[in-house]
Amino acid sequence: MDIKISLTQDPKTMPPEESLGFGKIFSDHMFIMDYEASKGWHNARIVPFGYFPIHPASTVLHYGAEIFEGLKAYRRADGGVQLFRPMENIRRMNRSAERMCLPEIDENDALEILTTFVKLEEKWVPHSFGTSLYLRPFMFGNDEALGVHAVHNATFMMIASPSGSYYAEGINPVKIMIESEDVRAVRGGTGFAKCGGNYAASTRAGERAARKGYSQVLWLDGVERKYVEEVGAMNVMFKIDGEIVTPALTGSILPGITRMSCIEVLKNMGYTVSERLLSVDELVEAMKNGKLEEAWGCGTAAVVSPIGRLCYQDVEYDVNSGKIGEVTQKLYDTLTGIQWGKIEDTYNWILKL
Ligand SMILES: *Cc1c(COP(=O)(O)O)cnc(C)c1O
Repeated sequence: MDIKISLTQDPKTMPPEESLGFGKIFSDHMFIMDYEASKGWHNARIVPFGYFPIHPASTVLHYGAEIFEGLKAYRRADGGVQLFRPMENIRRMNRSAERMCLPEIDENDALEILTTFVKLEEKWVPHSFGTSLYLRPFMFGNDEALGVHAVHNATFMMIASPSGSYYAEGINPVKIMIESEDVRAVRGGTGFAKCGGNYAASTRAGERAARKGYSQVLWLDGVERKYVEEVGAMNVMFKIDGEIVTPALTGSILPGITRMSCIEVLKNMGYTVSERLLSVDELVEAMKNGKLEEAWGCGTAAVVSPIGRLCYQDVEYDVNSGKIGEVTQKLYDTLTGIQWGKIEDTYNWILKL
């Protein structure tokens, strides 16, 4: 694949790693490529990071045709850089594209774009454990007309943001409110696709929860508001009476790569993992009986995020006395160990650059 590279004339320097935070600082360059129905993907290029022109009638500004991905480049102790299961992100992006009538990208081309871009931006991968270069590929419909139909023109881009450790202050379990009004997604909708619209629709509940002192909401299904689906923008797992339960992928749940990896690691450790429907009544019953042993969210940003307290219909329940549980801690240690190259990757998940 032909990627034209125009280097910046004004390279920036990396701020101190402790000050990075998440998603606020961007590397020197960005990737862009155009799609036109008659030509396919073309004009792949890496250019200096910055503003770019967009037509006021562009599809994405009116009808929200947008999908994205999120993955990290990790620095190993030996100085090398690596990716974690990048092909899974590429395949998921193509499944999201299919749902939104956006064009798919050849898997091998997408991997080449990713590795070329990360190698060029290598100096932006921070060095401390827990820090990473967050990569944000995204695609949007870019027809310059207001008609509603599958797009004829699209743009694919990738930006990179050096990010600090999610747990700079240590792993503190979060307080979560079970949301029984707003829903994030419905079966038949776009819940399984990583599209901006899902986030737009879920912001209100998150803000309301934050005002009441909760970190995020636990989403229930969009049809009956009965079954547990996700927590904030993460998948969710519970240890109930020895069994590890995570909601089955019914179409309204985002199939997380961290979720999939957690399931494999847990099975390997000898735990029983059930992907099934979990009703909020079963969950509340387990909390009342002291059978809910652990609960955690999982996603690329946090890896795992232990839940220390859950609130349902104004009643609060502690989970594991508000402390991180044993399984949650083991998952965190194993996944971060593989991602940052501290422990051997027996799964073949790592792509060294
Ligand atoms: C991205 C995302 C996840 C987590 O997916 P990972 O591949 O593990 O990062 C979970 N839920 C939602 C809604 C997401 O957007």
